[in-house]
Amino acid sequence: METETQLLVCERCETPLDADDLRCFICGHAAPFQLSVVRKTAIQVLRCKGCGAAVAYDPKHRAPSCAFCGDVVEIETIQDPMEQTDGYLPFTLDATDAQASLQRWLASLGWFRPSDLLASARLEQLKPLWWVAWVFDADAWISWSADSNAGSHRSDWAPHSGQNRLVFDDILVSASRGLTDAEVNVITPGMNLASACSDPEGAEAATIEQFDLQRSQARQHVGWAIRNLAAERVKQAEIPGTRFRKVNVSVVVRKLVTRRLSFPAYVMAYRYRNELYRVVICGQDGRLVVGKAPWSVAKFILVIGLCVLFVLGLLVLVAAAGQ
Ligand SMILES: [Zn+2]
Ligand SMILES: [Zn+2]
Repeated sequence: METETQLLVCERCETPLDADDLRCFICGHAAPFQLSVVRKTAIQVLRCKGCGAAVAYDPKHRAPSCAFCGDVVEIETIQDPMEQTDGYLPFTLDATDAQASLQRWLASLGWFRPSDLLASARLEQLKPLWWVAWVFDADAWISWSADSNAGSHRSDWAPHSGQNRLVFDDILVSASRGLTDAEVNVITPGMNLASACSDPEGAEAATIEQFDLQRSQARQHVGWAIRNLAAERVKQAEIPGTRFRKVNVSVVVRKLVTRRLSFPAYVMAYRYRNELYRVVICGQDGRLVVGKAPWSVAKFILVIGLCVLFVLGLLVLVAAAGQ
């Protein structure tokens, strides 16, 4: 037992246990003892009626609308057990940097956007916020079987199988309701996990999203992520050949350690010709920007028109040459 840190770990698979776990949630092994402390706390959050994000309720700054999507928020009481964040990654970008990032991003979108996009886009909203994610490490044994075309000789398929150990290190699984997975995927690479500290730092009056899943649901999410990653890995690196089918992957996880962290981002909205467009910028790297922008219909029509003219010209030439 690791008595130094008072950490309770499963005797069979070494996954850390929580004080009120009866069994290991990874392998089902009974916990060595249990503390029958029933914590009954309730906290108040602001819940968005649009995207569902739950953010910290602060009576001093009553948020009139959701910082993620702008929809209506209302006070909701959440019952324990609820997960709390273990740390906040600080903002290293300030609001001015974020605006400059937005400008650079708008300028980089290419020719098919409206020519006056950069000049006419007006910033309507810029909100610093911390969104939430689980970050896990784990050891996994994967066993897989599949049919593939490798070594199939004259038949279409040949059976293959294998076993391998996978080590997962600092894998992030979004717990955010306010940001989409697509947004999270773009801004995550810029995050420096080592910078996490105990207090939210680097932005004034930022919105703080809360973890609002029960622990069992949180573990389910992490479990799905591990199985998906293992299956991806098997398909990309393990199965020989170029075509495969009937892929079966089973995963045995050991030493799963999950941290809950809060990540900085700016959610911005800009207006172009009466339409609002949402943009999300990584709070630690201004080059990571994801968002929506208008297309120029006129430019598309121009290009299609030129193509049609070009083809017609070719036809005329071919017809002239044939005579
Ligand atoms: Zn276990
Ligand atoms: Zn919302």
